[in-house]
Formats: sequence, structure tokens, C-alpha cells
Amino acid sequence: MRSHLLNDTTADSYRRSVIEGVERVAAKLAATRKPHTGISVDELAPVIADIDLDTPLADASAALDELEDVYLRDAVYFHSPRYLGHLNCPVVIPAVLGEAVLSAVNSSLDTWDQSIGGTLIERRLIDWTTGRIGFGAAADGVFTSGGSQSNFHALLLARDEACRVVMQADPQLTKAELLPKLRIFTSEVSHFSVKKSAAMLGLGYEAVVTVPVDEKKRMQSDALARELAACEAEGLFPMAVVATAGTTDFGSIDPLPEIAGLAAAYSAWMHVDAAYGCGLLVSPTRRHLLTGIELADSVTVDFHKSFFQPVSSSAVLVRNRDTLKHATYHADYLNPRRMAEERIPNQVDKSIQTTRRFDALKLWMTLRVMGADGIGQLFDEVCDLAAAGHELLAADPRFEVVVEPRLSTLVFRYVPEGGANWELVDQANLHARKALFASGEAVVAGTKVDGAHYLKFTLLNPQTTTSDIAAVLDLLAEHAEQYLGESLVHAS
Ligand SMILES: *Cc1c(COP(=O)(O)O)cnc(C)c1O
Repeated sequence: MRSHLLNDTTADSYRRSVIEGVERVAAKLAATRKPHTGISVDELAPVIADIDLDTPLADASAALDELEDVYLRDAVYFHSPRYLGHLNCPVVIPAVLGEAVLSAVNSSLDTWDQSIGGTLIERRLIDWTTGRIGFGAAADGVFTSGGSQSNFHALLLARDEACRVVMQADPQLTKAELLPKLRIFTSEVSHFSVKKSAAMLGLGYEAVVTVPVDEKKRMQSDALARELAACEAEGLFPMAVVATAGTTDFGSIDPLPEIAGLAAAYSAWMHVDAAYGCGLLVSPTRRHLLTGIELADSVTVDFHKSFFQPVSSSAVLVRNRDTLKHATYHADYLNPRRMAEERIPNQVDKSIQTTRRFDALKLWMTLRVMGADGIGQLFDEVCDLAAAGHELLAADPRFEVVVEPRLSTLVFRYVPEGGANWELVDQANLHARKALFASGEAVVAGTKVDGAHYLKFTLLNPQTTTSDIAAVLDLLAEHAEQYLGESLVHAS
């Protein structure tokens, strides 16, 4: 069994195994035309359930053959130009190379003595990112598993900063009394992880005040001003304002400078969730859309969305590194206080994880091979594609589109000419999405707008063309029309 351990004596077997795996995936990429096969849960679940996990195949080739049946054949392939579903990107090759290296070396980024250069590389990339944001020299941050964790981490710091400041001003107040009085303000179309974080932080879902959006799905700053004033009038404490730079559904960007001004006026922490919009940090033409992000106390970025990195690759950045202490714990066996005094760089001092992947290496390899502009150009291409897609939709009488895209999503729905039974139209849109998925021809997402089912394109593949968009729209219209036709037959 030792022959399976990666070490100096097994280099040949390592090389053979990984190369064989790479060959299989490369062949798959070349042969895959549709985003997936359309297989159902009922078809695939028994295949996976039937595998006897206590009887190994012993050999990597055999396991790869089996993998074809349980995963590779039916996986959803994001490199397909007709995958227009969620915020998943095709990945850049330098990052995949980084992934192969980081898992083989298996550094853990919690402490210096488990990573050495890994820690310093991560720190350089954090500094590089805070530089792009426009934070000053006191900034810091850490890589995380994703935007949800980054948002949670930022709100944990915001909560503990609010407790520190409020309890300093009023030493009589206990933490137990204060926590139920903390409020978080965010727009009605912000990411659900804000609410989940509030609940996990012991504040409850009720701590989140949702602020209405304007017709372009941006937080209304005058409504935020009213909510903040009302909060204070009720004797509650505005703990944080969470602005979104790139909402998941609409790609809309909240008015960051105005929100920053209001947050400052009420001494509330300002967090910017740029999980999706962070690609603008490297965009050669659209960086100005993020103006005001430098005023935040903390920022979430998801490199695994608009930087074309493999999952997972995300970071939380803070303007003032002192605030990171709220997640610091000195464990005798791992990162004793003595080490901080000796200035040994232990990233676990800043993280809510302990053992942690060297995800930063993927971004490092990407910047060293392609450069920041290279990534920014790819993101610009998909934003341009969304603008072209919007023109198609706006000119197409079969569809109704919600807003002009700021980034690379389009939310729309099928509407039959001459109006119809809206209940049926709503079901027809839901049906079209499901039927398209089942066909495997393309994948689109869905969401709700004012309670009605809408369809959504998330465009993150620069290889997708306007003809792909037009073809997918035709397929969706066909599925919707077929559904409506059948409903009318049933009704008569
Ligand atoms: C995707 C997304 C998140 C969550 O990020 P994960 O990496 O999926 O955890 C948070 N906020 C926004 C705006 C997002 O689009």
C-alpha cells in the first residue's frame, strides 16, 4: 500500500497517474459539445449506490474507467459555450497548474512552519488585492473558501468591533443586552449569506434590515438613510451596512460612495460584497464602476467567479488590520503568543479556518503567466457579451428583460404575444428552464422577480457568442410555447 503514497520512491507512479487523469479530462473537453448529458437523479443515483467502496480496484486506470460512468460523462461542463447557468467560470490553465502543484505539495497555510513560501505568496497577493481596492498601508486580509465565508468573516469582525466600541462608551451594557440590538443593513437583492451570517453570529435573521432597490436593482441610499435614522431612534445600533458590488442576479452595483458616507455618519462598519464584481478590479475599461470600494471597512472577493479560478479561491480584505484580531486565538500547540512577538507570520491568526488550502497559488500562477490585464480582458469580454445579449432580448417580442446589465447577467422571461393567462406564463417559464436542462442542450438559471419566475443567463464564458445566446433563446421559447400549447389542449 505504501506504493500509493506520494514520495521520492513513487515519482513515476505519480507522473503516470496524473498524466493519465489529465489525458482523460483533455479528451473529455475536446469531445464535449453540450454542457451536460441531461441525465436524471434517478438514472445516476443507482450507478453510484452500486459501487462497492470496500472493494478497491487497486489501479488508477480502472478507477478512471469507473469515474467515466459515475462522474465524467455526465458532469456539467462550464467550458461549454452554452452553459449560461450559475456564477461558474471556465478556468484558466495557469490556475489549474497551480491547483495540481498545491495539492501535491499539500502545504497548509495556517502556520509558517507548514508552508514557508506559501504564507509569503498569500500575503503578497493579499497586498496586491488591497492595492487594487485602494486600501492604505494598514490593510490586510486572508484567503477563504468562498464568498459566503468571506461575508461571514467580515460580519464577525463588524459585530465584534460594534461590541467593542459600544461597550467602551457604555460600560454598564453587557454583551447579552447589546447583541439583540445590533442591526445589519443590506439591499433586498443582496446575497442570502448576509442573512445566514447574521443567524450564525447569534443575531438572528431579524437583525437584517432589507433596504429597497431602485429600478436598476441598486440599493436606494435615501431609503438606507431613513432606515438608519429609524434604527437609531429606536435605541438600536447600526452594526454594519453591506453594499453589493455585483448582485448575483442582476450584477447591479450599489452606490458605494453614498453608502460609505451614511455608514460613516452612523459609525457603522461598511462591507462591500464584491464576490461577483471583483473582476472589475482588473478590468482595463470598467474599473471606475467600483469607485468608492476603497471607503469600505471590509471587502469580499471571489476569484473563483470573475477571475476564472478553480473553486475554491476567495478572500476577505480589511482596511485596518487590527480588526482581524477578533478572529485570533493563540493555541499552545500551533501559534502561541510568543510567535506573534517573534513576528513569525502565522496566517491562522487571521483566519476562521485552521488547516487551509494554498488556494493563493492559483492566482499567483495566473498573474505570473497571464497578468492582471489578461484576466480583466476576459471579464470585459463577457460584460460586452451581456450588453449584446441585452440588445437581442430587448428587440425580441417573445421576451421581456428586467434591467440593462452592469456586469454579465441577464434576467428575462418569455411572454407570449398578445398577453395570456399570467399563471400559465409563469409556469411556462419554469418549465422552459427545466426542459432545457433535461435536454442537456444548454443550462440557464432561474430566479424570481416580484414573485414571478424569470430566466437568467450568467455569462462568464468568453467563448459564448451572440449566436449561442440567440440559439438558447429559441430553445427556451420553443419549450415555453410547447408547454402553453399543451396546457390549452388540456383545458379544452
Ligand atoms: C456567489 C456570491 C456569494 C457567495 O459566494 P460563494 O463563493 O458561493 O460562497 C456571495 N455574494 C455574492 C454577491 C455572490 O454572487
